[in-house]
Amino acid sequence: MSTRAFGEWRALDGQARRKLLHAVADAIESRAEEIALVESMDTGQPIRFMAAAAKRGAENFRFFADRAPEAHNGLSLPAARHVNYTLRQPIGPVGVITPWNTPFMLATWKIAPALAAGCTVVHKPAEWSPLSACLLAEACVDAGVPAGVLNVVHGMGETAGKAVTEHEAVKAIAFVGESATGSLIMAQGAPTLKRVHFELGGKNPVVVFDDADLDRALDAVTFMIFSLNGERCTSSSRLLIQDSIEAEFLERLTERVARIRVGHPLDPETDVGPLIHPVHVRKVMSYFDIAAAEGITIRAGGRTADAGPSYVEPTILSGARNDMRVAREEIFGPVLTVIPFADEAEALRLANDTPYGLAGYLWTRDTGRALRFAQALEAGMVWVNSENNRHLPAPFGGMKASGIGRDGGDYSFDFYMETRNICVAFDQHRVPSLGR
Ligand code: NAD
Repeated sequence: MSTRAFGEWRALDGQARRKLLHAVADAIESRAEEIALVESMDTGQPIRFMAAAAKRGAENFRFFADRAPEAHNGLSLPAARHVNYTLRQPIGPVGVITPWNTPFMLATWKIAPALAAGCTVVHKPAEWSPLSACLLAEACVDAGVPAGVLNVVHGMGETAGKAVTEHEAVKAIAFVGESATGSLIMAQGAPTLKRVHFELGGKNPVVVFDDADLDRALDAVTFMIFSLNGERCTSSSRLLIQDSIEAEFLERLTERVARIRVGHPLDPETDVGPLIHPVHVRKVMSYFDIAAAEGITIRAGGRTADAGPSYVEPTILSGARNDMRVAREEIFGPVLTVIPFADEAEALRLANDTPYGLAGYLWTRDTGRALRFAQALEAGMVWVNSENNRHLPAPFGGMKASGIGRDGGDYSFDFYMETRNICVAFDQHRVPSLGR
């Protein structure tokens, strides 16, 4: 691998990188319709959600473009006879490996800060959704980003992805995907001491107390598991509902779910499209057999929809216990597992009793409880009385089996850059001497 492009890109003034990355955002916006169409057809995600893919991708580029000139800034740390100052420098060429659920948005979220920091990138998109990565590369070429700065390598994870993680010239791997793949990548990168940043899976709880605004909670619960086909790392796939309101809430939820439209991804009325691949359909469907074997009530869905064998009906599994497989494993489809709880202590125990720790959602009008619960919840991101509401300067990432490291704002630069310290003496201190 040539590292020449890195030398040239890092040497570019931050203002020049800023200008080029804004030009990439312009190029993305000018192809918004095409990006939405390609993304929707490649992944099965409904066009009503993918219509914003280019807009969000361009926003990611603009956000980090504006921070490029300041990315190297550090701290001044004066001591008695020395001054210490820190600065950040791009770590080198980096590998970015992304999954198939929202490929364009995720690629821009990882690649924009890397480029803004002054790193060059080798991007390995998921083999099930390779197309929009090429559109992003074309946008970079159209914007005038020099050759070799963004490189796309297509192929299978076990071969192409593995090669990226093992290459000596690649200094860090930013990976988004399954927790098990994260473990493999860590092992593959060990001989070359790769720095890694992992955004992995989740089994995120949404906890609804009986004092919550139930209308708003119902909207958020429905949206956060049935939008994006349920193929979403931050989906609220585990509903923990206070037993005093369980019957009423479930009844309203079931009515809502019956009205969700399953259909062709390019139909603007479609809420849930086909799942990405027959292999993934089989995985999601297998959980209905598991649920039946575990004695769980399939309250809605639990089968393929009339639209065809790749379409899975929005599904509610109720009466589950937290130790069951449908409550512990990431299904990554339009499937909600419902578990009742009696009080705050039980809700917290259930919420934290999971290997994952990506996101948590909490619905209550009790301020003290919101504060207590949010701090005790083992999740990298907690939303109180809200669906997942993104703010680009805020840290994004998970704890436990859901990840290592954070993206967003300055957190991204900490990963893609080396923080260095330079210590300069005032020439006044006593230098220890030997053998005088
Ligand atoms: P995956 O782990 O199977 O694949 C992700 C990427 O890794 C693909 O590009 C794949 O080719 C590559 N890969 C596979 N094996 C590899 C290896 N040995 N070496 C290097 N690369 C390898 O994940 P997926 O099925 O594509 O995506 C779904 C997963 O992604 C879910 O678990 C979901 O929660 C997670 N995800 C997490 C976030 C987050 O921000 N935390 C966001 C989106 C998706």
